[in-house]
Amino acid sequence: VSELRVDPITGRWVIFTPDHTRRSTDFTPPSPLRSDPASCPFCEGHEELTGNELLAWRPGGSERNRPGWHLRVVPNREPVLRVESHLGSDGALLFQRFGGLGAHEVIIESARHEDSWTTMTVEAVSRVLWAWRERMRDLKRDVRLKSFVVLKNHGALAGARLDHPHSQLLAMPFVPPQLAEELEGAERQFKAKAHCVFCEIVQQELQLNQRVIASDDRMLTLAPFASRLPFESWVVPREHAARFEDGPDELLEAAAKCIQDLLRRLDATLLQPPFNVALHSAPASPDVDALFHWHIEILPRLTRVSGLGWGSGVFVNPVPPEEAAQVLRDAL
Ligand SMILES: [Zn+2]
Ligand SMILES: [Zn+2]
Repeated sequence: VSELRVDPITGRWVIFTPDHTRRSTDFTPPSPLRSDPASCPFCEGHEELTGNELLAWRPGGSERNRPGWHLRVVPNREPVLRVESHLGSDGALLFQRFGGLGAHEVIIESARHEDSWTTMTVEAVSRVLWAWRERMRDLKRDVRLKSFVVLKNHGALAGARLDHPHSQLLAMPFVPPQLAEELEGAERQFKAKAHCVFCEIVQQELQLNQRVIASDDRMLTLAPFASRLPFESWVVPREHAARFEDGPDELLEAAAKCIQDLLRRLDATLLQPPFNVALHSAPASPDVDALFHWHIEILPRLTRVSGLGWGSGVFVNPVPPEEAAQVLRDAL
């Protein structure tokens, strides 16, 4: 029997098909991506292959754009948006055009090509979140930039082009559709109930304890009620906070610990699956402080999104989140 679910935040419909036969071909194999460290632009010693560094963690105080770092942030070589652009509109009503204003940066998360978030120390993963936060804080001074999305693609099947560990930060002069959808839903819920829907979900999920994967006193890792993909997982702070970039160091460390714990559970269960990570933080508007709640979404890429998913935005998910949460809870 299939089950229809509506996401409480976005109103998105998801069809669950737990009874369907799951063939091995339903799940794509782990990524075959192999890039060569000798020609990798992100490896230590190849600093001249990237643009000027915007931020770095250099424990020995080494010189900029030289070896001796643990983490670097550089401009994307093929940016989709640039801060040097203008948002000027040509004024057409139907086909409006805007300049490609924004920022597109790459966080090189480790000097070591073979590292990953599961093999790095929790301090090193915290440092990645620190870099996201520091870059967001810096870019926010440009008031034309309205929102941020931080993405990580791990494995070729998740869209990564290099297997050197890295993530991407995009600052945009508009609110991207996925974030806008969550914001609209959160606003609708706030108007009806006068509280943050994410806070309510955190409370309810902890009480129900069916979709909780892990939790500590600061963070909750859960399989969301209307998961779009098998083993979709969210890391959410337990206390209300609209913006990731406003968080203190302790929260970064707590989030890093949870993400690493989750990825280790996914690795143990699903044989190191390719995955995407997305950080959703409230846009710059103060109107959304009470109703939006930052979170990190982790999406393992196990199945191909069906034509129905791409064509209609209706996802078909063969694994109910209660089952996914159970498997991941028992994984370690
Ligand atoms: Zn490399
Ligand atoms: Zn909240």
